[in-house]
Amino acid sequence: MTFEQIKENDSQYIMNTYGRFPVALVKGKGATAWDINEKEYIDFTSGIGVNCLGYSDDGWTKAVSEQAGKLQHISNLYYNPLQTELAEKLCKITSFSKVFFANSGAEANECAIKLARKYSFEKYSKERTVIVTLENSFHGRTVTTLSATGQDVFHNYFFPFTEGFRFAKANDMESVKAKVDNDTCAVMIELIQGEGGVNPLDKAFVAQLAEYCKENELLLIIDEVQTGAGRTGTFYCYEQFGINPDIVTSAKGIGGGLPMGICLCNEKLKDVMTPGTHGTTYGGNPVACAGALEVLKRVANEEFLKEVSIKGDYIRYKLSKMKGVAEIRGMGLMIGIVLEKDNAKEVATKCVENGLLVLTAKNLIRFLPPLNISKEEIEKGLAIFERTIL
Ligand SMILES: *Cc1c(COP(=O)(O)O)cnc(C)c1O
Repeated sequence: MTFEQIKENDSQYIMNTYGRFPVALVKGKGATAWDINEKEYIDFTSGIGVNCLGYSDDGWTKAVSEQAGKLQHISNLYYNPLQTELAEKLCKITSFSKVFFANSGAEANECAIKLARKYSFEKYSKERTVIVTLENSFHGRTVTTLSATGQDVFHNYFFPFTEGFRFAKANDMESVKAKVDNDTCAVMIELIQGEGGVNPLDKAFVAQLAEYCKENELLLIIDEVQTGAGRTGTFYCYEQFGINPDIVTSAKGIGGGLPMGICLCNEKLKDVMTPGTHGTTYGGNPVACAGALEVLKRVANEEFLKEVSIKGDYIRYKLSKMKGVAEIRGMGLMIGIVLEKDNAKEVATKCVENGLLVLTAKNLIRFLPPLNISKEEIEKGLAIFERTIL
């Protein structure tokens, strides 16, 4: 099949939900991918922060394919030793108490929202349901997580949306306080707004917010779907903010390339869910768990995480020397770049033509390279980027 045939069939048979770059990828190794015409690309996207160990990593491929050849799925009606091992490791790494396994970031956030509401229903009243999130946030594409997303463009067409969300301004405690009332059960935030344009929150604001939540008995939910699994140089980003959230959600990188969403909760929430109150057929599937166990084994490691920070600092340093770069944001290997010409979409397309895959976020260029990207691939990719933005 040629690229043209694939493109034609795609537009004939697949719902038109994505504006795609004109590339059909068929093979990858590390941070390098090849398209159907055998053209080579350096990958600064990891499939939107998913392939944290790169394409076809040896250890990850072995773990996943061995498990697929042994037992691919058993449902949650039976005990699953891989799930148990993964849950125990996640709890020990983070000091959370319990885990729920889902299949995506939106689903992990759905669990967090249900958990917060049921806890509040039982402990306070059935009117205490509102969750305050931030303007410019992104929490997913289900009807409820769209409601939780603090951007008007997402609140269209699909009426009626789930009620019970209010939006406060980021880095503004007065705005948060103005949105909280007797009916409020939780605050949910990203520590670096990813889709919203790679905006890290102020550490002082996050610390004040955590304190305020504690004083007012509000649950603090951190959406680490994009920032988690080592992306920012610690296993979870909240570690760098010195806070102890009640709930953390994780997805994207956690499975290393297989669908997995995780909702972690602390001691006071660990018995809120009971049989029949939540579930999903695929959640914690053995093959996905095998992939995630390999991710934990490799990424939840001090040396590895230090390398993520070093590589991130190096890329930021190199970018800071480039003509045409106006501002650089982010932490670790989650990097947002404001261009002087403000032409991110156009530059992203040109990068692809020149053999570099990059993402955009709002009007920024965004890099989410594999966490184990080699120095050589970094140099190659940055050289293409520098040449392209001129
Ligand atoms: C990507 C993302 C989501 C949604 O995850 P899906 O797996 O696409 O459902 C939710 N929250 C944040 C912060 C994200 O970056």
